Amino acid sequence: MIFFVGIIDWTTGEHARRLDLWSRLSAEGDASGLAPDAVRALGLYRGQAGIFFDGQADWARDAPGRVALTLLNTGKTYADSIVGDRLEYHYPSTNRPPAFDRNEIESVKRAQSLGLPLFVLVNNAYKAALKDVRLGYVDTYDDDAEAFFITLVDAVLPLAAAEQLPETEDDIELFGGLPKQTLRLVQQRNQQRRFKTDVLIRYGSQCALCDIDVPRLIQGAHLIPKSIGGADHAQNGLPLCLNHHTAFDAFLLVIETDGSGITYAPGVSKESLRVTRDDLTHLRAAPSKRALRQYNSSPAAKAARAAWV
Ligand SMILES: [Zn+2]
Repeated sequence: MIFFVGIIDWTTGEHARRLDLWSRLSAEGDASGLAPDAVRALGLYRGQAGIFFDGQADWARDAPGRVALTLLNTGKTYADSIVGDRLEYHYPSTNRPPAFDRNEIESVKRAQSLGLPLFVLVNNAYKAALKDVRLGYVDTYDDDAEAFFITLVDAVLPLAAAEQLPETEDDIELFGGLPKQTLRLVQQRNQQRRFKTDVLIRYGSQCALCDIDVPRLIQGAHLIPKSIGGADHAQNGLPLCLNHHTAFDAFLLVIETDGSGITYAPGVSKESLRVTRDDLTHLRAAPSKRALRQYNSSPAAKAARAAWV
């Protein structure tokens, strides 16, 4: 008897498997500096090709054709470079029989149509023999330029609704491109990162409230939150370290509309929050007064301040 697993069921299972794999990798903080043996043990990569699909693995059984799992980015080809969170990955062009390259390219397109993330292996910055694992979604590709454009993300995004997924192998061709829901999420991540970049360009990379000046520890904090329509515009933002971003969002402190002072909630102080500034006048650009006013007069801010007294 032939037992047929539908594409949607297969994709749901494979999405869960990749999610689990990524949770395990990132939870232990060991998605970086993996020895080749560890990479093989995880089933992430084996062999020589740049694009990896494991035809012998359990997960590949019942798959709708080859669905790529891992891309190897050695950085040997200068064009295959990661800039920020974007990876431009060139189609393989090897001396093997042409079908090899073609199958690999198709397997990446199939992962994209199914809305599945790919693992990207890059050389560890300190030891090239070790690999770091990144996670990415193919948001577009260009057959003329022979390249995939991949957005690197920090978490597996939810799988698109069944009606956005192809049901048959023929559909996969018709459904070319990431499912709309997934594409929207990928673009949102891009936008968040662009916002942080814009904020850092406008104000510098130092926390507006303390001396931390390490870009990885600085976030673009929205003044008017996105949830109530705040724009991804640098004037609606401030560079804040993780602690001060949390303190700001929790109304442990309130910044005067004109940036001329900071008020603290009862129980905390400038000292206890390790704030080193008295105001925002040191910033090379001022945030929007309107945005600060709107933030300070938002229902959430009013409720928080009412609880102060
Ligand atoms: Zn800070």
